[in-house]
Amino acid sequence: TLSDRLADTFRNLRGKGRLSEADIDATAREIRIALLEADVALPVVKEFVGAVKERARGEEVSGALNPAQQIIKIVDEELVAILGGETRRLRYAKSGPTVILLAGLQGAGKTTLAAKLALWLKEQGKTPMLVACDLQRPNAVQQLQVNGERVGVPVFAPAPGNGVGNPVEVAKESIEEAKRRLHDVVIVDTAGRLGVDAELMQQAADIRDAVQPDEVLFVVDAMIGQDAVQTAQAFLDGVGFDGVVLTKLDGDARGGAALSIASVTGRPVMFASNGEKMTDFDLFHPDRMASRILDMGDVLTLIEQAEKTFDQEQAAKAAGKLFGGQGEFTLDDFLEQMQQVRKLGSMSKIMGMLPGMGQFREQLENFDEREIDRIQAIIQSMTPAERANPKMIDGSRRLRIAKGSGRTVTDVNALVDRFFEARKMMQQMAKGGGMPGMPGMPG
Ligand code: GDP
Ligand code: MG
Repeated sequence: TLSDRLADTFRNLRGKGRLSEADIDATAREIRIALLEADVALPVVKEFVGAVKERARGEEVSGALNPAQQIIKIVDEELVAILGGETRRLRYAKSGPTVILLAGLQGAGKTTLAAKLALWLKEQGKTPMLVACDLQRPNAVQQLQVNGERVGVPVFAPAPGNGVGNPVEVAKESIEEAKRRLHDVVIVDTAGRLGVDAELMQQAADIRDAVQPDEVLFVVDAMIGQDAVQTAQAFLDGVGFDGVVLTKLDGDARGGAALSIASVTGRPVMFASNGEKMTDFDLFHPDRMASRILDMGDVLTLIEQAEKTFDQEQAAKAAGKLFGGQGEFTLDDFLEQMQQVRKLGSMSKIMGMLPGMGQFREQLENFDEREIDRIQAIIQSMTPAERANPKMIDGSRRLRIAKGSGRTVTDVNALVDRFFEARKMMQQMAKGGGMPGMPGMPG
């Protein structure tokens, strides 16, 4: 995943004060790969990575985050911005029924989506009506009727036995019918082809002209991959649309299509369809999609937590000790930092998810959460003088501490060694000019 690769990139970089051009380039390469793996279109990747690089150059280095986390945060924020920032709400007509026209390729999920959207609107107190304007595909009308019944929403369709019928006429009549029956939303399902074709576009455009929709939604299968840009552009030119609905998000698509389409068309993704059930439908959440595209699991949540947990005062104290010679990094500080790490969540949770922690992963995989309790017991069996000046902890003191904490002398030795290693690491980081990361991490 991207977080693994970034952790590798930053292996030797933790705590550095500022990202160099070379660091930014290395990171940009990893982001590029991650986006391509998520099926984001190449031109979109290029533009996006360019924007991220530019922002990374101008950014002050954060106290709370390590460089990898900080870059991921920038990437995440840029992704969310392109995907539409806050979810845009449907625009309802000021008077008369609100008309929503669905357009997209055959199999994109329009007919299914029509019913899901109708149910969703119904649950908000609307009285929607579905309109069957796909008179092309055999059984398309029936499919909409079946779906309509499932969600308890009436379907307007040409009377059976009327031949093929004219979708533009059906669309026009449906608006009159909706006014008569006081439906406040009309959802018009249209025909699609397997590929973009001129006749299909013209028909959709004619229906659009006939019903003057308040919203045209482009429905697209999240699995569309690299065809996303071309298809979206064709529908934008041929019919025009105001928003995007992404379907089949329950599949294993990483969601790059969302970024490609939003970026190229400038239209927000508004809804997400994620399953066969009528309730598998929701407003689109750009932040969730961003983490899906990045394939980062809960890493973004952890970044947020890290920023919150980061205690400015404590940092200032530690920094003062390191830089200002107000005394050295002590065992008390060491313990405090371990506890801070624990605050972020269980060790096992952090293990897989914190970028920059890759270097600790192996140790952590065998790491026992109770380790912190044992370390705490040992440190608490030391006198204040010993904690402040660990160099004084000689053989007989170690024996006493071991007895007091119920551990062995070997355990005490290991802890003292680990502490001196951590202190060395802190001092090296301090020389690098940056904030210490998490020197309390076992290693
Ligand atoms: P249309 O040709 O655009 O009207 O697409 P349909 O609504 O007929 O959907 C095509 C196929 O995709 C059908 O088998 C649907 O059941 C399926 N489908 C639609 N939306 C979803 C979804 O969100 N998840 C999954 N797994 N399947 C879906
Ligand atoms: Mg259909």
